Amino acid sequence: MSLGAMDIFKFLPAGKKEANANCKKCGCATCMMFAIKLSKSQTEPGSCPFIPADLLEKLEHNKKVQQKTLMCGNLKVGGETVLYRHEKTFINPTLLVVELDSKNSDYADKLKRILDFEFECVGEKYHIDAIHFLNPVSSDVDLLKQRGIEIIDDTFLSKLHEVHFTTLPQTVDELVKIRSCAILNRDENYSDPTFVRLDGTDFVSLSSIASVLICKYANAIIFENFDEALFASLITLRLNIFTDPQKPLQVESKVYEFNNPDQDALVFLTTNFALSYFAVANELSSLKCGSFLVITPSEGMSVLTAWSAQKITAEIASKVVSSNDILNKVKNKRIIIPGLLSDLKDELQEALPDWKIIVGTAEAYKIPDFVKKLQAV
Ligand code: SF4
Repeated sequence: MSLGAMDIFKFLPAGKKEANANCKKCGCATCMMFAIKLSKSQTEPGSCPFIPADLLEKLEHNKKVQQKTLMCGNLKVGGETVLYRHEKTFINPTLLVVELDSKNSDYADKLKRILDFEFECVGEKYHIDAIHFLNPVSSDVDLLKQRGIEIIDDTFLSKLHEVHFTTLPQTVDELVKIRSCAILNRDENYSDPTFVRLDGTDFVSLSSIASVLICKYANAIIFENFDEALFASLITLRLNIFTDPQKPLQVESKVYEFNNPDQDALVFLTTNFALSYFAVANELSSLKCGSFLVITPSEGMSVLTAWSAQKITAEIASKVVSSNDILNKVKNKRIIIPGLLSDLKDELQEALPDWKIIVGTAEAYKIPDFVKKLQAV
């Protein structure tokens, strides 16, 4: 753990209520100011002539790397700095690796399935991170690399700390011990990133086990066998664990088009929270008619949160609509707002008098039925 300003302050003369407190010899007005600067590495410990030896020792200890960062081609492994995601963020997603041996009878089929595997989630496309290639075939190595899949060998694995899978509780205990020693104690004996090998073809069971290991605390998992559903579910989980909790997932605020919209297209509106966007976009793509989706700049907040925080207002929404030329081509000037924004309807109507504001559904999955009813009127 890094030393915070209060941790440092407790060692300084003002924190210990001693002589020389707030003497300003360090160039700071108070010991607290010095502690704040030191915690942010904006000053040197030596600037204070009264800094005690035990604090210097702690600061020195704090310079040690918690967990090493290793490169696997373009991917980083390890480098974590906290035990819990909410303390800051987890940094480098657990590397998901498949073992591939060209001497095995299922080699060609397994290689093809790995190359074919592509999984789309929240607008991004994902594939397997890396292959642990046994008896590698150079032309297939090239194919995998062209697909963006990294190749790892035993030299790379020797830099990692292997945790042998025994039972799930025992394996997790071992991983927690290693991660705790690395993060809390900065113990160099535990600073190598970890990996676990998982064998077998019981993919339901493997999915449960690997999900726990992604959360606590495998830096890489090597699977003996490959299964599309297993990797799709693990990649989805990993996306949730390895996003920065302090940064909401958001999409660009603009007008998106679906199914070649023409002058009869419907116009929908929602906030730039990524999940709201993709939920609505998914339904609009499945409609038989074309549509526009107006995305407001709402700091990545969901509809209700944005409304409560005044991040979606009639003024904000009308500005996006009015500033977009494409929308002027729509004949039936109707804007469908989320059902959760019904309280905004009158205000938005006033701000956009040329448009008819319609309150849509609260849930995105109801959009197709809603559109059918709207078009039947
Ligand atoms: S020199 Fe040391 S004792 Fe004096 S104000 Fe700065 S931190 Fe406090």
